[in-house]
Amino acid sequence: MSAKANIGVVGLAVMGSNLARNLASREGNTVAVYNRSYARTEQLITEHPEARFIASETIDDFVASLAKPRTAIIMVQAGAGTDAVISQLAERFEPGDIIVDGGNALFTDTLRREAAISPTGIHFVGAGISGGEEGALKGPSIMPGGSAESYKTLGPILSSIAAVAEGEPCVTHVGTDGAGHFVKMIHNGIEYADMQLIAEAYDLLRNIGGFSPAEIADIFTEWNKGELESYLIEITAEVLKQVDAKTGKPLVDVILDEAGSKGTGVWTVQTSLNLGVPVSGIAEAVFARSLSSQRAQRDAANNLPAETFPFEVPNKEAFVEEVRLALYASKIVAYAQGFDAIRAGAKEYNWNIDLGAVSKIWRGGCIIRAQFLNRIAEAYGKDANLLSLLLDGYFTDAVAKSLGAWRRVVAGASLAGYPIPAFASSLSYYDGLRAERLPASVVQGQRDFFGAHTYKRVDMPGTFHTLWSGDRTEIEAEPSTH
Ligand code: NAP
Repeated sequence: MSAKANIGVVGLAVMGSNLARNLASREGNTVAVYNRSYARTEQLITEHPEARFIASETIDDFVASLAKPRTAIIMVQAGAGTDAVISQLAERFEPGDIIVDGGNALFTDTLRREAAISPTGIHFVGAGISGGEEGALKGPSIMPGGSAESYKTLGPILSSIAAVAEGEPCVTHVGTDGAGHFVKMIHNGIEYADMQLIAEAYDLLRNIGGFSPAEIADIFTEWNKGELESYLIEITAEVLKQVDAKTGKPLVDVILDEAGSKGTGVWTVQTSLNLGVPVSGIAEAVFARSLSSQRAQRDAANNLPAETFPFEVPNKEAFVEEVRLALYASKIVAYAQGFDAIRAGAKEYNWNIDLGAVSKIWRGGCIIRAQFLNRIAEAYGKDANLLSLLLDGYFTDAVAKSLGAWRRVVAGASLAGYPIPAFASSLSYYDGLRAERLPASVVQGQRDFFGAHTYKRVDMPGTFHTLWSGDRTEIEAEPSTH
């Protein structure tokens, strides 16, 4: 074998073969390809004879076909498959070589793998790759972690295949070790919230506004020309336009209303709970999918009392605008919460994450791509330590303009008996965030009562415990050593 490959891909199912084709299509790349069962490799090279591939039947030949520093991207089934391939490569690679896991790994697995491999001198990079099959082929949004040194080799290769948004490749070195997979996880969590919010807006327009799915498709197409412009709004219009060939009904009415998931939303919520970050929009989106799938419970509860009140819509056009504003404000909250989770993760795991750069690499290639991300980049560009996106002038104003509509929509939908968990929780979060006093003082009192957990006072420093008397009238505060 004479010419060597500057990059390799292991795992040639849909994601791996599309990524390999994307890599091979870029000037200067020759791509080594390998799959556990050779049939997939054979299929790829037969179907794409024009591509600059070097195919290997064995892992030894694959490793031998790579130029040094050897760089291989693993695109196999997350979990045991990834561990198996990592150990095969690590046995054969040398210090300075780079193993990239491009699968959907949980970031704590990436931390574990990086810690195990880095003493060998081999670089291990967990890279979040977003955009599904089409993104892998045409240009994904890529979130690599790993060492800064490995990014010197990897950066130009990944930049060559990433989506391009406003002239910039959608890839950045997110941070060390598990930072890339962490950010990809939060990206997916935000995607859950965004999808649920759009679904709730649809539900309001359909059930309260009285619009048909085709009319709502037109409304979304219109919204897509303004500040809500995004891939998700665009594809939702396509979904709502679709007519079922079999029944002639809107396809959305034929699709079973039970939403599935692959688990990254759950990871986001679990991780955020551990970090103490309220990601209520994302959590409600995950729970909404869970509730939708509780078919037996839902069927049994169908006839529970409702006692609803009519939501009068005297002006349909004005109602559409109110729903749009409520959606925009709720979306701002969901993104603010997601970025809070990234900031908290960065603090916990010592990652130096540029939040503005993250929002920029989500502008292309991935599911949550949207104009709106430019505003987030600007906000963090002005103040990298912004305490909350909601405190940035642009977003403060955007929410202020939406508030009346947001409250009317949430209150009206609740009175009319339509579930809007993501809209309502986003509004509650906003009100909680801006409240001068929260009833957390009552919770602290309860905790001190039953568990002597102590509390702090508003008027003096120290920690206090009240000696709650038998008849619960005696109140005596004293500094506590707890
Ligand atoms: P997949 O169905 O998740 O996995 C199939 C691939 O894994 C095959 O190449 C298979 O090899 C290989 N594999 C499984 N166990 C293995 C083992 N023990 N040793 C070696 N190879 C093993 O493939 P995919 O859908 O293309 O996804 C690849 C990765 O990208 C996954 O981590 C996935 O989560 C992530 N991802 C997928 C999408 C998507 O839209 N599909 C989007 C983003 C990220 P054989 O052919 O020999 O069975």
